[in-house]
Amino acid sequence: MSKPYHQELQAALDAVAKAARVCQSVQSQIQPESLEKKDRSPVTIADYASQAIVCHSLHAAFPDIPVLAEEDAVDLRTGESAQFVQQIVTELQQAGLPATPELACDWIDLGGHDGSASRYWTLDPIDGTKGFLRKEQFAVSLALIVDGQIQVAALACPNLAASDPWDKERGIIMTAVRGQGAQLYRLADLKAAPQAVRVSNTKTPERARMCESVESGHSDHSGSAEIMEKLGITAPPVRLDSQAKYAVVARGEADMYLRLPTRPGYREKVWDHAGGVLVVEEAGGQVTDVDGKPLDFSLGSELSDNRGVVVTNGQFHDAVLAAVASTLNG
Ligand code: AMP
Ligand code: MG
Repeated sequence: MSKPYHQELQAALDAVAKAARVCQSVQSQIQPESLEKKDRSPVTIADYASQAIVCHSLHAAFPDIPVLAEEDAVDLRTGESAQFVQQIVTELQQAGLPATPELACDWIDLGGHDGSASRYWTLDPIDGTKGFLRKEQFAVSLALIVDGQIQVAALACPNLAASDPWDKERGIIMTAVRGQGAQLYRLADLKAAPQAVRVSNTKTPERARMCESVESGHSDHSGSAEIMEKLGITAPPVRLDSQAKYAVVARGEADMYLRLPTRPGYREKVWDHAGGVLVVEEAGGQVTDVDGKPLDFSLGSELSDNRGVVVTNGQFHDAVLAAVASTLNG
């Protein structure tokens, strides 16, 4: 008998791999002019195409499991968007899907679930859109949530180095099934045997390498600087976009990831975390919110009972939480 969630894992891996390749292809076509003009069309084409591919593929394999994804096709169904939708259709056709404008919108809208089902997929078709546009880090993050527990994760980071940071080959997918560990696939060769992923063995916070969002609007940089000082961390923080932060902690290139609230009312979205959280936990790390509570994935599309995120290799989580508490509440 195969292991639990074997089929779901294969479907998730296959779906994010196809989506990641489309994102890579669109990203390689970004011209410097489009960055200067702050033209968001490359990222939106890739975003919609990624969601269409993943939802289409999951629906074929598991028609009864709904998908909670970040995008919807409302804006695409107006006549004004016809030319734009055609660009999405072209990307989908190049990926081998029998796409038409209507089908593309229907596939995107397969992601319209609200997270209330006992079993659902959650998808961020492109996490880290700013990184995507800068040709830096972004992710396609997919997870299966069953009764509020993340059971399966597939996290594609198309621009992360395949092995170590010096490796020229880019593109990985980390997968995890609860209780079965985390695995690393190279996007360039998914048939090659995956490698086990383990967090670092750094034992004390003062030696830790911390990572955080590039965007100070997504995570409070001055708060993290204060926390690092309290912990005696001297290495400067590594800033990268998207759930690639979870991936670098999972494989031990960083020892911790802080996401500190920037304003009181913001609630983290499930698709911004579910894939990354299971990968880190199965690699031996620990994830809580800034108050030390586990992230609660049973409340729909938002982590409405949590604020911020603290991720570590599991060796000094409580020390980090104490420093976080004294900075946020002190
Ligand atoms: P990152 O790449 O780590 O900067 O995170 C990108 C994600 O941040 C996006 O997918 C957004 O959903 C999310 N986001 C947007 N506004 C905020 C905010 N105020 N606090 C935390 N996350 C945010
Ligand atoms: Mg996101």
